[in-house]
Amino acid sequence: MQFIDLAAQQSRIRDKIDARIAGVLDRGTYISGPEVSELETRLAEFCGALHCVSCANGTDALELALIALGIGEGDAVFVPSFTFAATAEVVPGLGATPVFVDVDSNTFNMDVASLERAIVHARSLGLRPAVVIPVDLFGLPADYAPIKAIVERENMRLIGDSAQGWGGRYHNQMTGTLADITTTSFFPAKPLGCYGDGGALFTNDPEKAALLDSLRIHGKGSEKYDNVRIGMNSRLDTLQAAILIEKLEIYADELESRNKVAQRYSTKLAPFIEVPFVPEGYVSIWAQYTLKARSQDERARLMTSLQNQGIPSVIYYPRPLHTQSAYADFPCDPSGLPVSVDLAQRVFSLPMHPYLTHEDQDRVIKCLIDALQIS
Ligand SMILES: *Cc1c(COP(=O)(O)O)cnc(C)c1O
Repeated sequence: MQFIDLAAQQSRIRDKIDARIAGVLDRGTYISGPEVSELETRLAEFCGALHCVSCANGTDALELALIALGIGEGDAVFVPSFTFAATAEVVPGLGATPVFVDVDSNTFNMDVASLERAIVHARSLGLRPAVVIPVDLFGLPADYAPIKAIVERENMRLIGDSAQGWGGRYHNQMTGTLADITTTSFFPAKPLGCYGDGGALFTNDPEKAALLDSLRIHGKGSEKYDNVRIGMNSRLDTLQAAILIEKLEIYADELESRNKVAQRYSTKLAPFIEVPFVPEGYVSIWAQYTLKARSQDERARLMTSLQNQGIPSVIYYPRPLHTQSAYADFPCDPSGLPVSVDLAQRVFSLPMHPYLTHEDQDRVIKCLIDALQIS
């Protein structure tokens, strides 16, 4: 059994992908080919954003967003501690300071009260509160409304890290439209993945979109050899764009399948173990299906039982960022980050992808229930 079965998806659309790749090879426009802007148009339409700017990966997308917002020395950028390292990684490189915020124990997403404390703390350290980066962890949109209210009150800016959540819904809106700039990743294992590295940014602001377009291509101006600002080399390959066009065609259908898989897990497992919580008005895209064991020991036992039956499970994430060596010296919510620490000890994720069969899923469920009942 696969944790994420990319081969099943590939066999569904292999002929279409082959044709798309052949088209790129025939034309030979490997960089900035027409597929890139075609994909950007389709991605923007899908989520309802006015502009999409593709780039080389989800980490660059975060960096480009921060550069576009003018973030640098003296700026505090508030990020959850319970996330993938890239969310915080890009901040120090620009001379700014990541400030770690705790997450909610039910949604695993940024905790608003912790954000408030972290802002006061950052100011006391002489930093200027500048940007909040909520993460749509495991596919569930963050609680954007109260975060946005804080961001507006403090005259800050909002970047949504939707590397795991692009296409999810928060009330009437899709991720991609919920922040000043939303970033995503097309790393192969993400819900919308390409066959290499890729990423994109979304915004409704035409000036930001133009700026991001310049920044991703060496700070280009309107004339090719008059670069007007310091930028990066962060384009999405034409080949990856061509592949993503075909994957996007089936994405809505895949998200429905992911939701069915999640629903089925939750219905059957809820009497036995704490299953993921999806608040009213939210739709997750289920980048991960993550359970919470009662203790670190129980988690180890359950994962061993799964492993003994050839069922993969993975811990996302075993260490919150603020406890990792590279990040331990950056500021945190002064009340501590107890939920991030606790989750890291108890969470584990099950096989989750749109092509998981009932048969395989039932094996996972039975194995877990059996292991839980002998405890
Ligand atoms: C994967 C991921 C990224 C980085 O994306 P890459 O394309 O791998 O650079 C950023 N943030 C989160 C939350 C992610 O899961």
